[in-house]
Amino acid sequence: MAFNLTRRRFLQSASLAAASIPLSKVVSAETGFVQSPLEPKGSLKEETATGGICEMCFWRCQLIGKKRDGRLIKLEGNPKSIDNGTSICARGNAGIKLLYDPDRLKYPLKNVGERGKPVWKRISWEEALAECSSKLKGVVDKYGPQGIAVFPHGSTAKYPMHFFERTVGTHNVSEASFFQCRGIRDTAYWATIGKAPGENVDMPNSKAIMLLGSHIGENVHVSHVKSFIKGLQNGSKLIVVDPRYSAAAAKSDVWVKIKPGTDTAFLLAIMNYLVKTEKYNVDFIDEWADGFDEFAEGIADWTFERAAKECNIPVEQIKEVADILAENAPNVSIHPGRHVSWYGNDFQRQRSLACLTALLGAYYVEGGWVPGIKPKVGKVSWAKHDHGNEHNLNYNEDEELRHPFTPPGTPTELIRDAALTGKPYPIKGCVIWGQNPIQTIPGQEKMKDVLRQMDFVMCVDVMPTDATMWADILLPEASYLERFDLVKTGTQWDFSEKHQQYITARMPLVEPMFERKDNVFITNAIAKGMGHEEEIPVKTVEEMVEKNLAVAGLSIAQLKKEDGIHLRDGKDPYGIPEDFEVLLYNEDIEDAGFPGVPTYMPVEPPPAGFARLLYGRVPVHTFNRTQNNAWLNFAMPENPVWINDETANKLGLKDGDTVGLVNSEGFKSHTTTTVKVTPGIRKDSVYMAHGYGSANPLLSVAVNAGVDDTSLMTKIAIDPETGAHGMRNNFVKLIKDGKVLDIPA
Ligand code: SF4
Repeated sequence: MAFNLTRRRFLQSASLAAASIPLSKVVSAETGFVQSPLEPKGSLKEETATGGICEMCFWRCQLIGKKRDGRLIKLEGNPKSIDNGTSICARGNAGIKLLYDPDRLKYPLKNVGERGKPVWKRISWEEALAECSSKLKGVVDKYGPQGIAVFPHGSTAKYPMHFFERTVGTHNVSEASFFQCRGIRDTAYWATIGKAPGENVDMPNSKAIMLLGSHIGENVHVSHVKSFIKGLQNGSKLIVVDPRYSAAAAKSDVWVKIKPGTDTAFLLAIMNYLVKTEKYNVDFIDEWADGFDEFAEGIADWTFERAAKECNIPVEQIKEVADILAENAPNVSIHPGRHVSWYGNDFQRQRSLACLTALLGAYYVEGGWVPGIKPKVGKVSWAKHDHGNEHNLNYNEDEELRHPFTPPGTPTELIRDAALTGKPYPIKGCVIWGQNPIQTIPGQEKMKDVLRQMDFVMCVDVMPTDATMWADILLPEASYLERFDLVKTGTQWDFSEKHQQYITARMPLVEPMFERKDNVFITNAIAKGMGHEEEIPVKTVEEMVEKNLAVAGLSIAQLKKEDGIHLRDGKDPYGIPEDFEVLLYNEDIEDAGFPGVPTYMPVEPPPAGFARLLYGRVPVHTFNRTQNNAWLNFAMPENPVWINDETANKLGLKDGDTVGLVNSEGFKSHTTTTVKVTPGIRKDSVYMAHGYGSANPLLSVAVNAGVDDTSLMTKIAIDPETGAHGMRNNFVKLIKDGKVLDIPA
């Protein structure tokens, strides 16, 4: 069983770390571990390094590091932070274990075996960069810039992404954060209020909060959780709409145990009720909204009764939710959510959330949707060139957009289909930078076929992943604790406090070990090799940070003097800007052939004997990225599959039983996990945390730990408006002792 193997390996590595001094010196030379000598407390000089910004998840809390003899021994929240303050989460604390993880990539590697079954040979940076440049240039010379696909993720991937997109000229760039996560949210709000919403809800000052499939408390982001908890402490009512009794549902006043895929029907019924009973904010709609009549007519059939039947919830509960929202409007936080690519029909649900916020008049008011007013900084990167749309896969032969409300970049599925068919053109070079497309994109086998047919695959990462197994050249990147990187801005998280703004920049807390390099070094070298030396915008990442800070009248030296964070007075964020407009009915959407008024699109129900596979997060992991972290693995080494208690009884399953999964297309999980029996999930669904079950043997802690839910996502569902993937469309059965168990209705 994966659990035992992983735990044993962890204990083995822990005992190694506690070994004798001569051995620890060997370990140090090979892995970067340095054994802390057993000296009496206080006998060693400790220093504090400032300017850290966490990247164990994307929230980017501000850090300080405690160092002893040049080694980072502890991370803490920066006391000067008006964002996370002195708090950091379990993952933030465990950054030390990532920094010194013996499995980290250390040197450039060349695959002298097969893609997917690599045999690694250490090579020099000169050789690695020369090969990357010549192979990528070869692809461009033979197939044009459109012959390259880029899968980037994270703060360091922007610079190389801009190089390939803006300078080389490929449109084939697909960020997982857009096409498998939040892009659909951003574009739906863009089409409704002209802005991406972020998670800008003023929860501390709200009177009611509604979360729809949003697992605050499980996707811990420190200041966001503080904001949520403060709202609850201040007496805000909490409505949680979720098929599962999540950590947030456990704190709710109303838990709506909704049938998966029907959320839009639920929202339409609430909005129809608000309109019909004139419980909506008439003044706000008159002043700021367009298309109210078309909207009211378009949702007029959505009675509570109809929605209750569709959503499999009581009529009274929908009315209760609608009344709570109306009674507490406008001080209501309708959370836009995150990781909202669920069913391939998600644009309409996200539009519904934006429209509901408008009916409640909950934009730019206390407790509503309120973007803070941040300070301005620079954004130096590669200059934009117009490369036309001839090779943009999102445009058809008639120069019309296939997915007109797409996030930036090209929908992943269009890139994969072109790569596999060679039509309308071949895609033969691939750059994967900080992304793990094997475990982020549905259709894992398809992704492997895409990579298999490439002439050249280059990967850059901090750790090995399932995707790095497919690289020809694998380059080790410095981690977030070892490099300059981004400039981050923000405001204090509670707008009832004194208005303040902050500017901070990620600075290295320690030097990079081994041969790890930063994104600007790597990208510039490849750009030079590909003939773009003249266009290089900055020589070093430090220069980029300096230029971005200079726009705000700051410098790295100044930030260092200010303990890593520059604070200044802020501005009152409440009050609607003059140019604000809400499109309840959007004519452009209708002209493009989609519903201009939010519309419910039913999804396929589970076939007999199957349950829908839902997935989510846990507080101690950031999906797959933290799986190999020994401390975090110790806290949660596998992802138990939640199953309804009555269903489990009928199947003879009990807590802790070992099971595998098989989906309705016959794909079996390659590992097993344990069962969690609970009344806190519907009978038509099972649930597990995303990102487990890594297959890369170089991950000595994470390999085969838990089940890889992505491997079971074999049905491809694409949101028609945006081209984003739906990721909750697969149906599974459990396998125990080799026997496949039918899930009873
Ligand atoms: S929420 Fe946790 S992991 Fe994310 S940036 Fe903050 S401390 Fe790091």
